[in-house]
Order: sequence, then structure tokens, then C-alpha cells
Amino acid sequence: MYDFAIIGAGIAGTSLAFELAQIGNVVLIEAEAQPGYHSTGRSAALYTPNYGNTVVRAISAFSGPFFRDPPVGFTEYPLLTQRGLLTIAVQGQEEGLDALVSSAADQTPVHEVSPSEALKLVPLLRPDVVSAAAFEPGVKDIDVDALQRGNLRRFKALKGRLLCGARVRELARGSGRWHIVVAGECLEAAVVINAAGAWADQIGELAGTKSIGMVPKRRCAIVVDAPAGVEISALPAVDMAGSEAYFKPEAGRIMASIGDETPTEPQDAQPEELDIALAADWLQRHTTIDLRRIKHSWAGLRSFVSDGAPVVGFDAAVDDFFWLAGQGGFGIMMAPALAQASSSLIRDNRLPDDLERRGVSQNVISPARFSVAQSGSAIESPSD
Ligand SMILES: Cc1cc2nc3c(=O)[nH]c(=O)nc-3n(C[C@H](O)[C@H](O)[C@H](O)COP(=O)(O)OP(=O)(O)OC[C@H]3O[C@@H](n4cnc5c(N)ncnc54)[C@H](O)[C@@H]3O)c2cc1C
Repeated sequence: MYDFAIIGAGIAGTSLAFELAQIGNVVLIEAEAQPGYHSTGRSAALYTPNYGNTVVRAISAFSGPFFRDPPVGFTEYPLLTQRGLLTIAVQGQEEGLDALVSSAADQTPVHEVSPSEALKLVPLLRPDVVSAAAFEPGVKDIDVDALQRGNLRRFKALKGRLLCGARVRELARGSGRWHIVVAGECLEAAVVINAAGAWADQIGELAGTKSIGMVPKRRCAIVVDAPAGVEISALPAVDMAGSEAYFKPEAGRIMASIGDETPTEPQDAQPEELDIALAADWLQRHTTIDLRRIKHSWAGLRSFVSDGAPVVGFDAAVDDFFWLAGQGGFGIMMAPALAQASSSLIRDNRLPDDLERRGVSQNVISPARFSVAQSGSAIESPSD
């Protein structure tokens, strides 16, 4: 009998496993042979505090202290390293840049820079594509691997049990507890936590909940060689105003994506030939990189509900079933904050005060917002 059974060992599940193992006995159940195989292992690993709607931004900011100052012994590596983000606007897209500058938080400002300054910051850009530009120094690279390993190391030290290669196919409730059939065992737990990423609605269905309307969206990325003799490690990431396309240095090479968002079923996402070709074409039109060979490509799923905010809290109708889902394209940077928020909701039925002070209330992240919307009394959606 466990106090908590967490389904899914992506960054959401492992971060919460670390928190909950401090207050109870926890089993963390993962379908794949190792944690982090799906979205978590396929991200761009950026901490971009001015990205996402107002709820996402507030949650990402709340993760900041954990990233900058993790618990003693959590990791020997810094979780954040300097990257910076240059956003460029081609002619006609300058308004997108104004919106970015004006909506940036005071603590993480975005400054306008001239096209010539932009080209100095990223000499790989073609001069004719930069009509205006802005720079955000507060953007960082996240060491996702160190974050995952830190969570799991602490979880195991606190006697948590990690079960890999164990796909949950059945969930039943009886005698006030959950019965979870997995890998030939029947586990019992007081509370089930649904951290199954793109599969969250499927796990909800096993538990008998209403759908939260999760839509997994596939995004493809390519990796190419940097131009010979150009030192790229300290270059900022580059984003396009008015589109989701970006590129960034990654382990001595350049990673690029056009920011595609193709709705798809939950699955082991693979890149489509067309998306690879479009990413290569975009990179060639905007930079001077000679694109002879694509070293590597991959695809991952970013899973969203309709209002773009995460879904965190106990189900409104099914007892002791907790949602931690809908992290979209922000799940790595929100992970420490959402784990702390979830732990606080599970333990005390309230969010951490500091998160509430940042404007995040239970109702904007609760799964109950979908039940309310279905019964006709709509609640206000967080704005983009
Ligand atoms: C191309 C790309 C770029 C991104 N860039 C960034 C970025 O720069 N910054 C950022 O913060 N975020 C980024 N993201 C988003 C981020 O990767 C996700 O939000 C995050 O990884 C979601 O984590 P998760 O734990 O919810 O999901 P996952 O990592 O997918 O984990 C869910 C786990 O649940 C398991 N599971 C499912 N069903 C079952 C079952 N029945 N039984 C047992 N286990 C099950 C799965 O096997 C999986 O391992 C990006 C995503 C992509 C695809």
C-alpha cells in the first residue's frame, strides 16, 4: 500500500516524486524502459520566462529560485547557464516585437536592439532578414538531465520506488483506495497522480474521469553543423517575431525548429520528412549556415488544453485522483514550481502563498475548470 502512485516519469512525474517522497511512500510508474523517454528527452531545454500566457509565466518565475539554488546535494552542476534570446523581426513583423518588449516582466526585461547590434550578437544571421530586433538576457539553458537525475537520486534516497517498463492499463477503486494493475503486479495506493504527459486523458479515462480535452501537438527539430571556424557556444538563441521558428546552439552544433504544432495522437513521435525539409529551408533563408547535411532530427509532443495553462489539482468527480498535465511547451521550466504546487495542494489543499501572490489561483489551473465550462458557466481564461 503506497500513499502516492505517480503515473509517468517525465520531468513532471520525477519532480513531484521528489517532493512527495518527503511526506509519504511513493511508487513512480513509467511505461518505457527509462524515465524521460518522451517529451522530456526531446525539448529545447530553454528557460524563457517571457514565454506562454500569464499563468505559465507566473509559474515559470516561481521555478526560478529552485533552478538557481537547488537543495543541497541535488546536483553538482548548475541547472541554469547563460544563453540569452535574440528575437528578430523581418519587415512587416515589427509589431510582434513591440508586444514582446511591452509584455516582458520587470524582473526579466526585453530590450530593443538595432539591426546592426543584432548582427553583432549573432553573426550567422543574414543581414537582409533583420528589420528590427530585441534581446532578452534572462533566457537560460536548462540542464534537463541534471534536473531529472537530481530528482531521481533524491527520490531513491527517500526510499521511493521507481518501476520502469510498466505501462498502467487498469485502474480500479475499491475500499477507499486505488488498485493499479501494472507489470504483473497489483499495487494499491491512496492517491493516484496522473503525470502521463500526452497520455493524460487516457489515464483519466481508465480512472473514470471526464476528458480535459488534451491535444498533443508534434514539433520537429533538426541539428546541423555550425560553420567551420565559428565559435557558437556563447551565441544567444534566436527567435522570430510573429512565428514560433527558432534556432540555438546545442552541444557544438545548431538546433533549429520552425515551431510546428501538428495535432496528433499520443505516441512515440517521429519527425516527418516535410517538417525536416521546412526547418532546413527556414534555417538556410535566415542564416549563412551552409546546410550540407542534417546530422540528426527528432520530434516530440507538446500537450495543451484549450486555455494553454497547465492542469493541476484533484479531479472534481473522482476521489483521490490528481492531475499534473497540460504543460505544453513549458513543462521543463515549470516543473519545479508545479511539483511544489502539487505537493502543497495534496498536503494542505492550498497553493504556496508565493505562487498565489504571483497571481496563480487554484481555479485557473484546476481540472474542475473543464467540468464548469461543460456545464455552461464559463470561467475566465488566462489571456495570452
Ligand atoms: C521540440 C520541443 C521543444 C521543447 N522545448 C521546451 C523548452 O525549451 N522549455 C520547456 O520548459 N519545455 C519545452 N518543451 C516542453 C516539455 O518538453 C514538456 O512540457 C515536458 O517535457 C512535459 O513533461 P511530462 O513529464 O508532462 O511529459 P513526458 O516527458 O512525456 O512524460 C510522461 C510520461 O508518462 C509515461 N506514460 C504515459 N502513459 C503511461 C502509462 N499508461 N503507464 C505508465 N507510464 C505512462 C510516458 O511513457 C512518459 O514517459 C518542449 C517540447 C518539445 C517537443
